[in-house]
Amino acid sequence: MMRNISELNIVRIGSDITYSSLKKIGSGILESFRDFIKEVKFAHHESPMVESIDAQLLTMILDEEYSGHTLGITDADLKTDDEDEFYSSILGGKNPTNDVAVVSTRKLTPEHFNSDGAYDLFIDRTLKVSLHEIGHNLGLTDHAAYQPASKGRLCPMSRGEYNKFGYRGYVKAIVDGRGRNFCDECLHFLKSVYGPGSSSSKLIKDTVVPSAH
Ligand SMILES: [Zn+2]
Ligand SMILES: [Zn+2]
Repeated sequence: MMRNISELNIVRIGSDITYSSLKKIGSGILESFRDFIKEVKFAHHESPMVESIDAQLLTMILDEEYSGHTLGITDADLKTDDEDEFYSSILGGKNPTNDVAVVSTRKLTPEHFNSDGAYDLFIDRTLKVSLHEIGHNLGLTDHAAYQPASKGRLCPMSRGEYNKFGYRGYVKAIVDGRGRNFCDECLHFLKSVYGPGSSSSKLIKDTVVPSAH
């Protein structure tokens, strides 16, 4: 992994999220990935209003337009070609062939959206799904079981069984149950790959030196 992950483009598609909330999400990402992501840049991607978009296609569009480490947040439903109806529409995904992850806010809306605190909950959920997908971008994998992190919260990489809960239940049990801190196992992985003195930073030096004459 020799790519630069320390800068992240956060691209908003659609206008479900206000610009100030987008910045809040950016600060949350910087906080949770401190030591690994140092800078976030914000952009708004103009696109016609759509009900749904193919998740993979969206990652390719964003990769072409922004390149590098990128997170797209859309208000459209993200579709996959999975035959299982439940997995054919996802909260977020990552394209393994580039460094782009995408998140859909469509299913993160609280049931009583006009009640007090509902918008904050909506933004908190968007942040947590974003942390999970960026985690995948950095090479972290899902925890099939509930993996506790600090303060009794689940690690952002925790994942449950979709079918067991249904979407609303899944979001409440898993997404709301996640905290913003990664568990020791995830932190250990991030440090070993991206931390100072890690194998990848040595690797970068080794490949640069010979070509520099
Ligand atoms: Zn995952
Ligand atoms: Zn973890």
